[in-house]
Amino acid sequence: MKKIDMADDGLQFSPLIQGYWRQMAWNMSPQALLTFIEQHLELGITTVDHADIYGDHQCEAAFGKALALSPSLRDQLEIVTKADIRIPSSPIGQVRTAHYDTSAAHLRESVENSLKHFHTDHLDVLLIHRPDFLMNADEVAREFESLKQSGKVRHFGVSNFTPSQFELLQSRLDDALITNQVEFNPVNMGVLEDGTFDQLQMHRVKPMIWSCLAGGAIFAKETAQTQRLYDTLATIGEELGGVGIDQVIFAWILKMPVNPLPILGTSNIERVKDAVNALSLTLTHEQWYRIWVASKGHGVP
Ligand code: NAP
Repeated sequence: MKKIDMADDGLQFSPLIQGYWRQMAWNMSPQALLTFIEQHLELGITTVDHADIYGDHQCEAAFGKALALSPSLRDQLEIVTKADIRIPSSPIGQVRTAHYDTSAAHLRESVENSLKHFHTDHLDVLLIHRPDFLMNADEVAREFESLKQSGKVRHFGVSNFTPSQFELLQSRLDDALITNQVEFNPVNMGVLEDGTFDQLQMHRVKPMIWSCLAGGAIFAKETAQTQRLYDTLATIGEELGGVGIDQVIFAWILKMPVNPLPILGTSNIERVKDAVNALSLTLTHEQWYRIWVASKGHGVP
């Protein structure tokens, strides 16, 4: 798989990213997790997506335990993790109400914890997980600079930011934010309409895409919309030579000119392989719009 340039200084991601949000539900031993990491590395998936809070703050450490069994793997990976969501189960500073915190002190503490969990001296990328209404962009910019100078974090980005929130933070930074990680799938197409993709394409910033398969909702077909989508995706899958609807969805996402990078949510290596094979699929303009129409339940205006 050809790697994707993410920053001028040479940072590259794999075109598909392995997500680890659901990792604790996979119930894998450190050895089984290590095998899974080796398998996706073998397929060319070198970028991994984490967050400090995943699995009630347990995912990073469990991943680190697996990495510790084969320490040389660390340098084959680009580790992305996130900070700013504080939840009552957080091990760093007790809180009663879940909230967002982009204060310098919290970001620094979260990074220190992530480094310990992963048994590493640097994070490749730190993302602000969700927009904090109390974000002071100057304070965040100073903390990013300090984390970069110390060598603890090499690059920065955001997640779930609106275009104006992105512009605000970017206006205070010397380095470009490397991504905005957002939800995009045939069930939730909000980023097509709220200016998010337009702004990222304008700045040539490649979004990381979460819940590409709508968390599995399209397979469950529990609503009229997901039933319509399932049927349309299955028909297009036939037209493409009998590929799975998950593969059609990845091809639909990858057709976006903003150059998105899908994050995979599965731990099933066969499904990971299917996603890799979807990289070579190309939808026509009309096929792309048939999925849009199935999502909306009406034609284009
Ligand atoms: P997803 O791919 O939309 O959903 C994964 C779920 O779909 C899994 O339960 C999986 O089950 C199921 N699935 C996949 N292929 C299937 C198939 N062919 N048939 C039936 N079910 C299928 O992705 P996600 O897990 O919601 O999100 C992916 C990653 O995005 C996360 O790991 C995390 O890294 C990131 N994320 C970020 C944010 C954010 O706010 N920045 C939010 C959510 C997620 P199996 O495991 O059985 O395959």
